[in-house]
Amino acid sequence: MTDLRWLADEMVGRLGRYLRFLGYDTEYVRGLDDREIARRALAEGRILLTRDRQLAAGVPGALLLTSADLSDQLRAVRAAYPALRLEVAFERCSLCNGPLAPWRPSPGVPLPEELPRERVEGGLAVFACVRCGHRYWDGSHTARIRERLAQIAPGVAP
Ligand SMILES: [Zn+2]
Repeated sequence: MTDLRWLADEMVGRLGRYLRFLGYDTEYVRGLDDREIARRALAEGRILLTRDRQLAAGVPGALLLTSADLSDQLRAVRAAYPALRLEVAFERCSLCNGPLAPWRPSPGVPLPEELPRERVEGGLAVFACVRCGHRYWDGSHTARIRERLAQIAPGVAP
């Protein structure tokens, strides 16, 4: 199964981070000219997400987002791609798009300070980016994301 892959331009960076939270392979474009962006989208099989009408017109399959509001943008992506999963998935790093892998504390090594010690000791699943090392777990941040997803598609998100 080939999954959706995205290329987000600078104006929709927050949407791009959300797509990573949903587990989607999402890259950013910065400082490239339109032809270069089109070439990259095609070469990597990515759908361009942009608020730039002119850019969207020049890239086959690009999705033009008319709203600056994140929830509206997510709705627009879902409307164009109904297969979009609106669920938090610990699969992609929101910072660098690297894949996440299960992370376990090393015996004898102090737990990193940012982790909720009691929950980790109680078996909380923690994931780490294989590229940049950033760690992820289910907490207040993912709860806020799920709230937004539930508003976008009631009954779909957990
Ligand atoms: Zn990372």
